[in-house]
Formats: sequence, structure tokens, C-alpha cells
Amino acid sequence: MSAKLFSVDEVAKHNKEGDLWVIIDSKVYDLSKFAGMHPGGLAVLLDDEVAGQDATEAFFGLHRYEVLQKPQYKRLMIGSIQGQKSSIQARPVGEISRVPYAEPSWLTPGYFSPYYSESHRKFQKAIRKFMEEVIVPDAQAREEDGKRASQHVFDEMAKLEIIAMRLGPGQHLKGRTLMSGLVKPEEFDYFHELIMGQETAHMAARGYQDGMGGGTYIGLPPIINFGKPALRDKIVPEVFSGKKFCALAISEAFAGSDVAGLKCLSKKVDGGYRVTGTKKWITNGTFADYFTVGCRTEQGGLNVLVIERGEGVETKAIKTSYSPTAGTAYITFDNVFVPADNLLGEENKGLHVILSNFNHERWGMTTAAIANQRFIVEECLKWVSQRKVFGKPLHSQAVIRSKLAAMISRVEAAQNWLEHVTYQMNNMKYKEQADRLAGPIGLLKKFATETAQETARDAVQIFGGRGITKTGMGKFIEHYHRTVPFDA
Ligand SMILES: Cc1cc2nc3c(=O)[nH]c(=O)nc-3n(C[C@H](O)[C@H](O)[C@H](O)COP(=O)(O)OP(=O)(O)OC[C@H]3O[C@@H](n4cnc5c(N)ncnc54)[C@H](O)[C@@H]3O)c2cc1C
Repeated sequence: MSAKLFSVDEVAKHNKEGDLWVIIDSKVYDLSKFAGMHPGGLAVLLDDEVAGQDATEAFFGLHRYEVLQKPQYKRLMIGSIQGQKSSIQARPVGEISRVPYAEPSWLTPGYFSPYYSESHRKFQKAIRKFMEEVIVPDAQAREEDGKRASQHVFDEMAKLEIIAMRLGPGQHLKGRTLMSGLVKPEEFDYFHELIMGQETAHMAARGYQDGMGGGTYIGLPPIINFGKPALRDKIVPEVFSGKKFCALAISEAFAGSDVAGLKCLSKKVDGGYRVTGTKKWITNGTFADYFTVGCRTEQGGLNVLVIERGEGVETKAIKTSYSPTAGTAYITFDNVFVPADNLLGEENKGLHVILSNFNHERWGMTTAAIANQRFIVEECLKWVSQRKVFGKPLHSQAVIRSKLAAMISRVEAAQNWLEHVTYQMNNMKYKEQADRLAGPIGLLKKFATETAQETARDAVQIFGGRGITKTGMGKFIEHYHRTVPFDA
């Protein structure tokens, strides 16, 4: 609370160029010097309803709350209005949102769920706090400058074993201290993993979401599940400590959906293989140290080999519609020698290694995609209360309410289906999951990622021009609409 108190009449006297004050949400701002630099122009600040007046409504019809939190604007605040209280409260870091449907129902006070225990609830709180304090600031900055996620983020994640936990429950967690001991390794289940995936939505940076270890999420499990002990013992600790990174390199310009059609060739030689070929759209490929690579064999089967960055390996960034933070790469392997011990699984049976990975990857992507969708629902619900058109808030318009109702129904349906599938995963062995859940997970992913695109389209409509603007009020909507097709 600022110390100096003013009356409304006192503020009203400062209503001209060079002497310009306004009231926003009970606080008084001196814009005398700033007015000439206002990105929206001086004229809007000299308007009769703004200069020397309570401009709260005008301000929030055009700006995000966070603007006022920026140091350069905080400095302009000179006091408060006597007897008035702030009516707008930002959600404190780590807390639950009070916007309806902004949280899944298990996190909404007054609702119940059979799936989540006290351990999940404690875990969610800790992860959200970590996400908002450590990751979100880096995510927003890197999404802007396109650099890869900062090393300090990986270091902090490693300290809490977040990199290990992102791979889900399993033997790889044994003996580790998870979240400073908050969850025991044997307690950690797919709902804990679901929580981690869903909390990433708060970074609202799709390139960074993949950049922050997306390659490891899909590239390391084959090494853990099919690698020889010596290979595992070398790579896993390096990656879990945040010092090295993996990428899964399957797709090629020649073969994407049709995985069996890969052309990258592994030839058997003394002591191992020689690999020649290319890979395309490889997440984290620009900075990965280890590549889990699908290759054709001379017999026409497939091998999966772990290739370390080194002689004959070249990676080039591919420009995509999300930020370069994701490290999306085109890779060439030029007669690269790979030791025999780097073969994952059996020779010529690599298809099994590749396919066994897909269920968990699809489920993980769906988990985050649903949370991203919910984040957009929250943005829309906030905006329709802030924005007035024809003298009424946007939410009073039936067409807008209908769009919101459809958005909410879609995300609720997807979340409930996801929780049902996750419960099955918790109760099935990995092999059973492959047999019984490949279909449901594929269908759920299709549903969640298609409905996400409907929500993106509706959100752009609800935000109007701001829905296509890269900064300001609609920046998350623009970003979502541009990047949402990636998940499908
Ligand atoms: C953001 C992003 C990250 C990625 N990261 C990785 C990564 O880390 N590692 C990796 O190996 N790959 C990665 N990929 C590549 C991805 O796996 C491929 O893009 C995907 O497999 C599809 O292949 P494709 O793009 O060649 O499309 P194609 O296979 O050429 O398909 C084109 C279109 O035809 C459809 N289609 C294909 N076959 C059929 C069919 N039989 N019937 C009907 N329709 C069909 C497809 O659904 C698609 O819509 C990534 C892609 C994206 C977008």
C-alpha cells in the first residue's frame, strides 16, 4: 500500500499535458512525463474520461494486469485514493486460480475426486510454485529471444529430481529424493506425472515447453528400457543431472507417419555400425548430446542406436512457427561410427523399441495439451469480464457465452477422459498398457488436440484484433492459435 493519500478531487486537477494523473484500481499514477512515450499515443491519455479521472475501466479494457507490475510502470504510482480499496487481485504465486474452470475440478474448492491423494495435492502445490518462480520467467524470456532454456533452470530441476520424475514412475526413480523428500519414489505414480505435465501450461510458451527437455522425455526412455547396463549407467546420471540432453531422432523427410519406411542406414562393421542418413523435425536436436536414432538395416529391418554428438554428426535449426527455443533440428549422420553396445533392444527389431515409446509420449503430450487448452479458457473468461462493448461486458452477449460454454465443455470432457485413462495406467503393467490403452490414448489425443484447435479459433474471435497481436492483452491467444496445431 502506497503511503500518500489523495482525494478524487485533488487528482482531477491534474488533467492536462505536462501535469497528468490518473486513478487505476484505487492507485494514483503520475503520467506527466510518461504520457509522451505512451505506446498508444498521448491523445488517449488526454481523453476527458481518463485525464485526472478514474481510468480503471478504460485501462483494463486494453491492458493486462501484469503491465502494472512492471518496474517502469510501478514507479509511476505516487499514492492511493483515500477510503478506496483495490478491487483487483492477482493470483499469488503458486496459488489456485479463482476464475471458474481455470483449474481442473479436483483443484477447485468444494469438488471431489477419487483419483488424487494428499500426496498429489502437496506435490501439485510444490510444482506450481517451482514452475512459477523458476521456470515461467525463463520461459517468457527465452520464448522472446529464441535461446535455449537457461542452464540454471535445468540445474534447479535436477536438484529436485524433476528431470527424472518427468519420465514417469519406474525403477529410474529408485533411491532418489523427489522434491526434497515430498514424495517417496515408490509413491510416485502417473497422477504425479500428470500434474507435472499439466502445470507446464502456466509458462504459456509452447516452444519452451518442448525446449525444456522434450527430447529427453521421448529420447531417454528407450535407453532406460532397452539399453545395455553400461550405456544406461553412463547416460542416465548425466541427463538427470541436467548437464546433458537427449533427442529422439526417428522422423525423416522421407518417413514421418510411416515409421517403417525410414531410409537412414546402419551398416554392420567391426565393433559396431556405420550410420549414414538424415533426420528431420528433431526436438532439442540443435543442442542434444545423445540421439536415439531409428535406422534401416541391410537386412531391411530396423535398429535403434544411441549416437553421441561427435564426428560426422551435424545439426541445423529448422525454422518453425514456434520459437527456436525448442531446438527443432535437421540432422545429418555422415558415416558415423556407433559402438555395438549402443544398440537398443535386438538387432533388426527396432520397430518394437520405437513403437513401445509412443503410448507414453502421446499420453504426455495430451496431458499438457489439455492444460494448455484450460489456460486459454481462463484467459477468455478474464477477458470477457474486462472488456466492455456496447456498454456491457462481453460476457453478457449470448454468442460469446455460447462459445465459452463450448470451450469449457471440451476441456472438461478431455480432462475427465484423461484422468480415467491415467487411472488405468496406474493399475496396469507397462505391457498391458500397450495392449489395452494404445487405442484409447490415440483417440484421446485426437480428441484433445482437435478440440484445442476449435478453442484456439473461438478464443481469437473472442479477443478480436488482440487475438492476432503478439504483445499485450491477447499475446497468449495469438501464441496458442499459432502453435496449437503442433500437438495434432
Ligand atoms: C513439433 C514437432 C516436434 C517433433 N519432434 C520430433 C522428434 O523429436 N523426433 C522425431 O522423430 N520426429 C519429430 N517430429 C516429427 C513427427 O513425428 C512427424 O511430423 C509425424 O510423424 C508426421 O510425419 P510427417 O510430418 O512426415 O507427415 P506425413 O507422414 O507426410 O503425413 C502428412 C499428413 O498425412 C496424414 N497421413 C499419413 N499417413 C496417413 C494415412 N495412412 N492415412 C491418412 N492420413 C495419413 C498425416 O496424419 C498428416 O496429416 C516432430 C514434429 C513436430 C510437428
